[in-house]
Amino acid sequence: MTSLDTARYDYSAPVSADLFARGQQVIPGGVNSPVRAFRAVGGTPRFMAQAQGPYLTDADGRRYVDLVASWGPMILGHAHPAVVEAVTAAARRGLSFGAPTEGELELAEEIIARMRPVERVRLVNSGTEAVLSAVRLARGATGRPLVVKFAGCYHGHVDALLASAGSGVATLGLPDTPGVTTGAAADTIVLPYNDVAAVEQVFAERGADIAVVVSEAAPGNMGVVPPLDGFNGHLRRITAAHGALLLLDEVMTGFRVSRSGWYGLDPVDADLFTFGKVMGGGLPAAAFGGRADLMDHLAPTGPVYQAGTLSGNPVAVAAGLTTLRHCTEEVYARCDEVAVVLRGATSAALFAAGVPHRVQQAGSMFSVFFLPDERQVRDYEDARTQDTAAHRAFFHEMLARGVYLPPSAFESWFVSAALDDEAVERVLAALPAAARAAAAADPADAPPAEVAKDAQELQP
Ligand code: PLP
Repeated sequence: MTSLDTARYDYSAPVSADLFARGQQVIPGGVNSPVRAFRAVGGTPRFMAQAQGPYLTDADGRRYVDLVASWGPMILGHAHPAVVEAVTAAARRGLSFGAPTEGELELAEEIIARMRPVERVRLVNSGTEAVLSAVRLARGATGRPLVVKFAGCYHGHVDALLASAGSGVATLGLPDTPGVTTGAAADTIVLPYNDVAAVEQVFAERGADIAVVVSEAAPGNMGVVPPLDGFNGHLRRITAAHGALLLLDEVMTGFRVSRSGWYGLDPVDADLFTFGKVMGGGLPAAAFGGRADLMDHLAPTGPVYQAGTLSGNPVAVAAGLTTLRHCTEEVYARCDEVAVVLRGATSAALFAAGVPHRVQQAGSMFSVFFLPDERQVRDYEDARTQDTAAHRAFFHEMLARGVYLPPSAFESWFVSAALDDEAVERVLAALPAAARAAAAADPADAPPAEVAKDAQELQP
């Protein structure tokens, strides 16, 4: 035990509580993205006031080691001096021109240099927009209607991809939310993740109508569930054999788990890739890209329409480009090193407290599944068997000890290269008490039916 181990905040967070109450008068649920409302863990969401390096400071003035990193983008840590400098300089030159700029070319060139199968890139404003544009392009280019996705993979709030599987192996999607028509969901086929036979079967039955298979390159939205046994390679083989396209969504993994994202660890040449998060450096920027012949189906060279008033915004481009240029091998090495230490220490603390669990990783992304045994989590069905009461107790004890973890059992932890030894030590110091809290959790305290992000985001 270190001296830090005794540090525990008074848990009331009165300023955040007031802001949350005020927020609910003007913003649905008080937040602008549902997971921020802490519904899966209960309690008061912390309103943040500022962030620097590996730390967040909330409105009550409490400092947290940040293991969310804005859900991925802040790989260099918060307010990195070079990024802030670039953003400030760009803002001084003008906030938006509605005309092309050289910075957009540089960002596209940086992405292309890191991703061998990507020859053309189009910039957009969010991961959602990247995926919906890429799916439209896939349908436009193939002239086919159907999209195949995997249960538990999240691709943003794209209508066609907010479908959940019913029972059975190959299931036509049902709308996951009011506002998505059965028509939109019915063009989506939802399969269990990591199940090659299910993909083979659906292609045998409907292959001629399938435009694209969409998959997270390594899923992090049902907790971290990496592709097993060359799964992405099988997707490549099967789609190619049927004239369908493969879209690997690297919004989360892209430029995070290696300089070439998941592609750098598992080089499968998809037709299309989507990017976001790290490549926007904390500002709203995202992209999709692929082979030139395919991307040239987009307007103005081709007939598939796609556009955006703020696409390639110069300030966002400056943040993204500077972030990517600072994402050196040393940055990835530090992220990997920190992730190894945190995974090992978390597991050791949970074992010591007698808490059954499994830690899974995709590069430096990882998550802790509170499961009754140590079997591998291969898909969403497995992920859903988690003990969410244990997660909730663990989360709150870490929070009270100054560590900000994802407020859901179905999310990856994100490290940054700014996590120095002191910040890591703070996490290590908090773990034993959090593990004991998880051990003492009553399963009856589980939050109501917590499910993965694609549906969790939609809980009323
Ligand atoms: N795709 C993946 C794999 C994601 O993880 C996310 C967001 O978490 C998205 C797409 C959507 O990105 P955004 O939230 O920027 O719309």
